[in-house]
Amino acid sequence: MITITLPDGSIKQFDQPPTGMDVAMGISEGLARNCVAMTVDDQLLDLNRSIEKDAAVKLLTTKDPEALEIMRHSAAHVMAQAVLKLFPDAKLTIGPVVEDGFYYDIDMDPISEEAFDRIEAEMNKIVKEKLPIVRREVPKDQALAFYKDEPYKVEMLQALEDGTISFYQQGDFTDLCRGPHVPHTGLVKAFKLMKVSGAYWRADQSKAQLQRIYGTAFFDKKELRKYLTFLEEARKRNHRRIGQALDLFSFHDEAPGMPFFHPKGMAVWNALLDYWREEHRGAGYVETKTPIMMQRFLWERSGHWDNYRENMYTSSIDDLDYAIKPMNCPGGMLLFGRKHHSYRDLPIRAAEVGLVHRHELSGVLNGLFRVRAFHQDDAHIFMTPDQIQEEILGVLKLVDRVYSSFGLGFHLELSTRPEKSIGTDDQWEMATDGLESALKAYGRDYKINAGDGAFYGPKIDVHIKDALGRTWQCGTIQLDMSLPERFDLSYVGQDNERHRPIMIHRVIYGSIERFFGILVEHFAGKFPLWLAPVQVILLPINDDLIPFAGQLGTALGKAGLRIEVDRRSESLKRKVRDAQLQQIPLILTCGAKEQEGGTVSVRTLNGKVRQGIALTEFIRKVQDHVAGRRLELNLFDE
Ligand SMILES: [Zn+2]
Ligand SMILES: [Zn+2]
Repeated sequence: MITITLPDGSIKQFDQPPTGMDVAMGISEGLARNCVAMTVDDQLLDLNRSIEKDAAVKLLTTKDPEALEIMRHSAAHVMAQAVLKLFPDAKLTIGPVVEDGFYYDIDMDPISEEAFDRIEAEMNKIVKEKLPIVRREVPKDQALAFYKDEPYKVEMLQALEDGTISFYQQGDFTDLCRGPHVPHTGLVKAFKLMKVSGAYWRADQSKAQLQRIYGTAFFDKKELRKYLTFLEEARKRNHRRIGQALDLFSFHDEAPGMPFFHPKGMAVWNALLDYWREEHRGAGYVETKTPIMMQRFLWERSGHWDNYRENMYTSSIDDLDYAIKPMNCPGGMLLFGRKHHSYRDLPIRAAEVGLVHRHELSGVLNGLFRVRAFHQDDAHIFMTPDQIQEEILGVLKLVDRVYSSFGLGFHLELSTRPEKSIGTDDQWEMATDGLESALKAYGRDYKINAGDGAFYGPKIDVHIKDALGRTWQCGTIQLDMSLPERFDLSYVGQDNERHRPIMIHRVIYGSIERFFGILVEHFAGKFPLWLAPVQVILLPINDDLIPFAGQLGTALGKAGLRIEVDRRSESLKRKVRDAQLQQIPLILTCGAKEQEGGTVSVRTLNGKVRQGIALTEFIRKVQDHVAGRRLELNLFDE
């Protein structure tokens, strides 16, 4: 008798060892149809495996995330089978699941995406046949004999120390694999091959170059379509494309991974920082600036020289070693330590928008998302232990205000003490309680990542959600018990004794370059008026009106607006169209009527046209709109 315990606590008994499918059928036929795999005492297994002893069993249906991975891996097998049918000389290597899909590395003549239609057609046949996917265990010598003409599989088999070798068979196709897989090929319902690229066997350039064919798969066609639409939208919003089209920034071989910002990019940058400064002044911060390059003994003291040196740019001058800062913190510690502090001075909230350099491998550089030189909006808050909750709460409220200004949602995660850490149990308890009580007082849900904190303190990470639903970790609030110790920072308490201040690092934008890139994609280049690189463009309707447009532009520029005058001899229609492609929020057409009446005619990017507005009224409306940092372009709606 075998006793199976299901997740809801119910129990099923079987005279013979049942398969997962038997368990599913015992519940309902509908369930059995949607079952993909199972866990037996937390071990992921094929649904067709028999359960030999009493166990806790969870059936995985098409709704479970693990089931999706199992199906995608099975799709890789289906693809390999199709490729072998079309290219019988191809040699298979491995076919793992990756984020959003799968790939298979195959030794074959290079193919292009043009071959995808044929491969997909073969795959469709295999799926339609609903071939059972059957597992069998094979002794090593038999497996080696089976694969005598498959050098990669032989290499993998020989590397296997011990344990069970399993083959999976579907129709006339057999593959060496640990599994698990879906019960039959019919469950690979909606798939698409995505791209092909070269990859070296074992990622070793001295070894054979293989064809890596990527694909994705979903349990239903609607999900696949949704994913492809999302990819298309993400491609359109790609910040490198838009950055070029709107003339915001570029990269040059002279400084790989270090962005150059153009005048229009700087306009957005400055608007971001003006806003940042306004919010931080309001929240009681002061601003500091520390050198980009500092001597080796500073980095030895901070620990960076020993632990972070391979990521740092270093230099030697007058026989002294220097390093370019990878973080603003050590400079911030020197500033705090330069004088005596009383508990009455605390909290001190000292911010620095500092330029930092970190050496990243060239292969991981990615537009503004991953660079080697960037600005961090760091701030160090020095406080007494009883100020922790209120200070953290203050940072959370600031985070909320800033992200909301961009229409970005966010969620919070708290990471607690890891196995390897410095500091006493009491210190950790005080620090973690401080962060948690602030999160509770703030009143939003948060997730706990147990043991995920840094070795020197717990932290709160803030993950924002952009217009496409993608999440990005930007903000972080990090308690640090190490640096105040290393720099021997202290303040004199009410008891007249010296105490170590509690210190947090926090960023809100994080890397400003990266945040800039996220905003470009979030807004798809259509920045709100307060952030737009060019807020107003003036279009003289003929050459005679160019001086008038210039005067108007000067007046608007004096009023603090970012303007451009289109002096080209193009038609008005063409100029309007180009201004729209540049996503300029406000287009002013400058004709004789406007010149005589001292008025403006406005066309907003969202298609509304207003004529005969007095210039002073127009300026006031735009200034109000910008000052309020409104996201909607509703200039005339009140
Ligand atoms: Zn497999
Ligand atoms: Zn810091």
